[in-house]
Amino acid sequence: MAKRISVLDRERCMGCYSCVYACSRTWGRVAGIEKAALRIKSYSGAEGFFSIRVCSGCEDPDCAKACPTGALRPSKRGFGVDLEKKLCNACGSCVSSCISMALQWDEEDKLPVPCRHCGVCASFCPRGVLGMEEVERA
Ligand code: SF4
Ligand code: SF4
Repeated sequence: MAKRISVLDRERCMGCYSCVYACSRTWGRVAGIEKAALRIKSYSGAEGFFSIRVCSGCEDPDCAKACPTGALRPSKRGFGVDLEKKLCNACGSCVSSCISMALQWDEEDKLPVPCRHCGVCASFCPRGVLGMEEVERA
């Protein structure tokens, strides 16, 4: 069993960005959203809603398959992918191959920002929208 970050209750999201800031502060050492591994997008309309883009922890990740240099590989620690920075050529193929549009890009460092499935974002969500799920790996 391994733990994976998951969206538990999308409807409860109020768009406060606490999760995004927490990720950026923790792993990017930046107070902002630029280095966060997830995003919240707001959609206006009659009722409006928030879309939460966070790594799905695919078993056979498209981002790793799309990487021409082997910089991204499925994580041996659990879900998600590991990045070997020195192998990355900044082509962006990984980001464009992610069907859930969850893999983020660090414009400053010209590197993808893979989710570590650490759960920090979930611990900062005041509404229980995100959580860590124990999932059996195939
Ligand atoms: S940007 Fe880097 S990690 Fe992403 S596919 Fe290209 S070489 Fe691989
Ligand atoms: S699980 Fe960790 S690395 Fe992934 S989005 Fe949340 S805080 Fe960032």
